Amino acid sequence: MTTYTVSNLIHGDLSPGDGDAELEVLNPSLGETIASFKEATGAQVDDAVRSAREAAASWSRATPGARADALHAVAQLAAEHFDELAELESVDAGKPITAVRDIELPGIIGGLRFFAGAGRSSTALSAGEYVADNTVMVRREPVGVVGAITPWNFPLQQAVWKIGPALATGNTVVIKPAEMTPLSTARFVELANEVLPPGVLNIVHGRGPSVGAALAGHAGIDLVSFTGSTRAGKAIAAKAGEDLKRVVLELGGNAPVIVFDDADLDVLIPKLVVATLFNAGQECMSGNRILVDPRLHDELVDRLAKGMAEWVPGDAADPATQLGPLISEAHRAQVQAAVDGRRDGTEVVIGGDAPDRPGYYFNPTLLTGVAQDDDLVQREVFGPVATVQTFSSEEEAFAMANDTAYGLAGSAWTQDSGRAMRAGRALNFGSVWINDYFVLGPEVPQGGFGASGHGKEGGLPGLDELTRLKQVSVSLR
Ligand code: NAD
Repeated sequence: MTTYTVSNLIHGDLSPGDGDAELEVLNPSLGETIASFKEATGAQVDDAVRSAREAAASWSRATPGARADALHAVAQLAAEHFDELAELESVDAGKPITAVRDIELPGIIGGLRFFAGAGRSSTALSAGEYVADNTVMVRREPVGVVGAITPWNFPLQQAVWKIGPALATGNTVVIKPAEMTPLSTARFVELANEVLPPGVLNIVHGRGPSVGAALAGHAGIDLVSFTGSTRAGKAIAAKAGEDLKRVVLELGGNAPVIVFDDADLDVLIPKLVVATLFNAGQECMSGNRILVDPRLHDELVDRLAKGMAEWVPGDAADPATQLGPLISEAHRAQVQAAVDGRRDGTEVVIGGDAPDRPGYYFNPTLLTGVAQDDDLVQREVFGPVATVQTFSSEEEAFAMANDTAYGLAGSAWTQDSGRAMRAGRALNFGSVWINDYFVLGPEVPQGGFGASGHGKEGGLPGLDELTRLKQVSVSLR
């Protein structure tokens, strides 16, 4: 079995953590330890932030073109290390290797290239003589040092979606990946440091309440870019409020899929299988709340159950695997508890339990007969679990879809263009997809409402989050 090392990288230098806590990294497919490391101390977090601040002086003044060239070189290095990064991501996060190779990693490298180029135009400004005898300019400047904190479900994608836009707009970064999945981000940061000046991109490792909180609350950080649970996001926002620090929060979700009576089930069902089971449902945008017109209920349940059952749990390293494990035993226990907590009257159409094999797998699970106030409907389960409800009118469908604390993503399926437009208007989610699912790309801003957080990642709005506007006027007299 291959084992890996996990090092901090501060001002261009690799260093082990000096903290007391020793953390283990497991391969979720097998439940075996593949790395162990000591977490960073507060002093190491200080060093990383100081290094990023020093580096910001020159990086923020480099031309956007020079920064773009550097980021393109990083993307090229990532492409040259494609196999290594894919294997790290798969073994560490339990991601099916084919999904990493065919979908995630190409998207990550392509995304980085987009951010590199987009940074060149995000400085576009206005200048005019709006006030007599003055030329008024609006400068777009980097915020300074970004503290980035990422989750375990898409470790490298989340890291690059923070690092790319931050560096492209002239900020420097200290990133702390999730302690369960540090490997791919650590390697990426190491590769990037072959190209970037020391201090522009630093990484520290450790748990959230210790290292993450030290980074997020650090006086030398200008903006915290956080993706993770709503619980941790609230803690970070509360602390940031004390210091009036800027935050971008990409938090949990609980996406509805509304299926109207005129939906094309031939198109819908394969997409819905992916919407519920991609990454074993550990996806903030998973379509796990299905709301269906009663006339289509039985056919949808029957066909969806058959489609979901084809995703057989398998080792993430096997190219044929579509359904990998959950991230940990503890997380699997939470998913099991959520399913076991169902009310009387809920029918388990398929799944509901774990397969008998090593690793942290959970079977594809479809539940019907749930009520709107069930925890299974209201909370984010974060596993391969979907619920089905019915509605009696378009208005009720929209109301049920909107009736959770979250507001990240939602979708509606209909052939009626007017209804499609009404769905786009009525649904309170940062991403609303009509007749498709996971419509994502680096050009597309995403980010939720309500308990799903605020701020955008992706597209030019995502880059703008990492900048501040300054008005400078020059008297013509
Ligand atoms: P988590 O909140 O437990 O951890 C996320 C990161 O925050 C980790 O690096 C962790 O160490 C750190 N952390 C935890 N507590 C902290 C604290 N008090 N201060 C600072 N840092 C802290 O979340 P998770 O379980 O790793 O990730 C899953 C969650 O992420 C799900 O809720 C999912 O919906 C969400 N997510 C959202 C998006 C999005 O774009 N909206 C994308 C991916 C995942």
